[in-house]
Amino acid sequence: MTEKDILSTEVKFLKGVGPMRAEAFKADFGISTFRDLLAHYPFRYIDRTQFHKISEIVINNTSVQLRGKITKIEKQGKGRANRLTALLNDGTGTVQLVWFQGVKWVSQKLILNQEYLVFGKPVLYGRMVNITHPEFERVEAGYELSSRLQAVYSSSDKLSSLGLHSRNISRLIENLLSKVRVVLYENLPKSIIQKYKLISHRDALLNIHQPGSYDEINKAQFRLKYEEFLFIQLQLLEQKIIRKEKVSGYIFQNVGSTFNTFYSQNLPFELTGAQKKVIREIRNDFKMGKQMNRLLQGDVGSGKTLVALMCMLIAVDNDYQCALMAPTEILAQQHYNSISKFLEGIDVKVELLTGSTTAAQRRELLANLESGDLNILIGTHALIESKVVFHNLGFVVIDEQHRFGVQQRAKLWEKGRTNLPHVLVMTATPIPRTMAMTIYGDLDYSVIDELPPGRKAIETYHYTDSKRIALFGFMKRQIALGRQIYVVYPLIKESETLDLKDLNDGYNSISRAFPKPDYQVSVVHGQMKAKDKEYEMQRFKNGETQIMVATTVIEVGVDVPNASVMVIENAERFGLSQLHQLRGRVGRGTEQSFCILMSSYKLSNEAKTRLNAMVESSDGFEIAEIDLKLRGPGDLQGTQQSGILTLKLADIVKDERILYFARNDAKEILSSDPKLEKEENKYLKLFLQQNAKDKTNWSLIS
Ligand code: ADP
Ligand code: MG
Repeated sequence: MTEKDILSTEVKFLKGVGPMRAEAFKADFGISTFRDLLAHYPFRYIDRTQFHKISEIVINNTSVQLRGKITKIEKQGKGRANRLTALLNDGTGTVQLVWFQGVKWVSQKLILNQEYLVFGKPVLYGRMVNITHPEFERVEAGYELSSRLQAVYSSSDKLSSLGLHSRNISRLIENLLSKVRVVLYENLPKSIIQKYKLISHRDALLNIHQPGSYDEINKAQFRLKYEEFLFIQLQLLEQKIIRKEKVSGYIFQNVGSTFNTFYSQNLPFELTGAQKKVIREIRNDFKMGKQMNRLLQGDVGSGKTLVALMCMLIAVDNDYQCALMAPTEILAQQHYNSISKFLEGIDVKVELLTGSTTAAQRRELLANLESGDLNILIGTHALIESKVVFHNLGFVVIDEQHRFGVQQRAKLWEKGRTNLPHVLVMTATPIPRTMAMTIYGDLDYSVIDELPPGRKAIETYHYTDSKRIALFGFMKRQIALGRQIYVVYPLIKESETLDLKDLNDGYNSISRAFPKPDYQVSVVHGQMKAKDKEYEMQRFKNGETQIMVATTVIEVGVDVPNASVMVIENAERFGLSQLHQLRGRVGRGTEQSFCILMSSYKLSNEAKTRLNAMVESSDGFEIAEIDLKLRGPGDLQGTQQSGILTLKLADIVKDERILYFARNDAKEILSSDPKLEKEENKYLKLFLQQNAKDKTNWSLIS
C-alpha cells in the first residue's frame, strides 16, 4: 500500500477496533475507512474550566457542567430493577446523579470521595436536583495540565455496548491522528487558503478533534465546512461541464408553424416577462447541439406549464416528439385536458397514457408513438415502461419532479434514439436557492419570478374550531356569490383509515350544514377508483357542485379558476410547502380568494410558526426558506436521494454564507482549469479522486 492510500485502510485494522467494532461503526455511522473515522467530528466540546455552582443551578431544560466530589454511592434493587444513585457535592450544594442503565459499568468507574466532572440536564425531583444518566469523567492528578477542551462524540447503543463511548472514540481518533498526521496533506490551492486565511488541512483535522481553544475550533470548522461544500460543488459543476462538452443533443433550429400559430391565435393572454425570459433561455439551449438539463422554478400559479408547452411546440416544429410526465393520474389528466384545449385547431397530436388507459387504447397509442404520428405524450409513471417506444423523443418535461426517483428520470431519458432528449425539470413549489444549488447544482437554472397580472393576493386566516359556525356562514356567503370551495383533510400514510374517518366525519358535517338541494357537495379521496374520482372532479370543475371535500389528492396542479376558498382542516398537520401548494389551488381567477387554516387550539411552537408564516406571506420562495429553517434539510422532500444528508459538518441553513463562497470558488476554479490540470490544483484533484471512491456518486443525482 502506498503512503497516499493509508487513509483508505479499513477501520478494523486500527489498533483497538477489530471486526466487531468495525461492523458497528459501519452499520451505525457508515464509517468504514480511516478517512471516514477522521470525519466523525465531535458534536460538542466540554470546557473543563467552566463550571456551574450547584447552588446556582436553574432548572430550565439546559445542561450544566459541574465539578465536585462523590460523597455517596448507593445501589438499589436487584437484577433488572437495579439502579445506582450517587451524590455529588461541590462545596456550594449537592445534586443526585441517577443511572438506570449501565449500572455495572458506572459502579466500576465511580469512586467515593474522588473528584469528577459531570455534565447533564438537571431536573427537580421532590426538593432534590437530579441528573439522570450524566456524562462524567474523573479529575485525575495532573488533570489541569492536559487540554482544556474535551471533544464529545456521538456513539450508538451498539458501539457503547462494545465499550466505545465518547471518551473511547476520542482515544481511537487520537491514536489514529498520531498515526496518519504526516499524510494529512494540504488539499486546497494557495490562493484559496490566502483568500480566507485558512488553517491547513492537517491543523483543521487535529484541532477539530483536539482543540486548544474555541478559536481553534471555529477555524477548524470553517475550513472543514468550506472543504465539504467546495468538493460537492466541484463535482456537481464538473458533471455539468462534462455533459456540456460530451453529451451532444438534438438541435431544434426553427420556430415553426405550430409555435407561431399557437402564439398568435390560441394564446389567450400576454406572456409575463419572466415567462418570455425562460422561453428564450430554453430556446437558446435547443440551438446549442448539447443536451439541455434545466431546472425550472416558479411559484404555484406562475405559469410553468404554459412555458413547458410552448417549448414542446418548438420541438414539434422540428419534428421531434415530446413527453410530459406528471406524478399523479389526476394531474396528468389535467395537463392533457388543458393542453388539448390550448392546442384546439392546431395540428399537433396529443395523447394521454396512464395506468387506466385501456388495453385497446394503449395498443393504438403505442403504435402511433412508434410510427411518429403522435407528437406529445402526457402521462404518469406509465411512460417509463419498456413497452413505451418513441419514434424520436427529443424533449422531456418532468412536472413536480421531487416525486420521481432518480432512476425513473434516467429511464425516460434513455428513450431518446440517438441522443439523450433535452430535459426540463419543474418543481411544484419553490425550493430555497441553497438547496437547489446543492441538489441540482449540476443543472442549469431558470426561475419565473413574476405572477401573471391581475392576480389578487390570497387572504389567509387562521381559525380554531370555535369559529366553525362563522366559517360556515362565510362559506355560504361565498357560494351565494357564485364561488366554489375546497375543504381539504390531511392524508398521512401511516393512518389512512383514521384520515378517511376524519374526511368522512367532515363530509357528513358539511353535508348537514349545506343540505341538498340548495347545495351540492363532492368528495374525493385516494382510495376511490380513478373513474369515480375523475367523475367527482369533473362535476366540481363544471360547477355542478359548490364544495369539494377532499384529501390531498387535489394538492398538485388542480385548476378550477372559479374556486376561491380553500379551507384546510387540521392545518397543523401539514408541512409548509404543502400548505402553500394547497393554497395555490385558489386565486387562479380574477375574484378575491381566501385560504382558511383550521386547527385545534393547542399547537406546538413549530406549528404556530408554520401557520403564522402562511398568514403573513404569500411568496413561495420566502415560505420555502422558512420551511428549510424550521425543518432542516433532512426532512424536505427530495433531499433523501441527494447528498445533502451526507454532509458531515456543514449545514446548508446555518452555513449558507460558506456555501456561496464555495460555489463561487468552484465556478472560478473550473472556468480557468476545467480538468484541474494546473499545478496549483494538483492536490484538489488528488483529494477529489481519493474521496470520490467511497462517496455518493454525484453524477446520479440529476
Ligand atoms: P404552475 O404550473 O406554475 O403552478 P400553471 O402553468 O398551472 O402554473 O398556470 C396557472 C394558471 O395561470 C393557468 O390557468 C394558466 O393558464 C394561467 N396562466 C399562465 N400564464 C399566464 C399569463 N401569462 N397570463 C395569465 N394567465 C396565465
Ligand atoms: Mg403546475
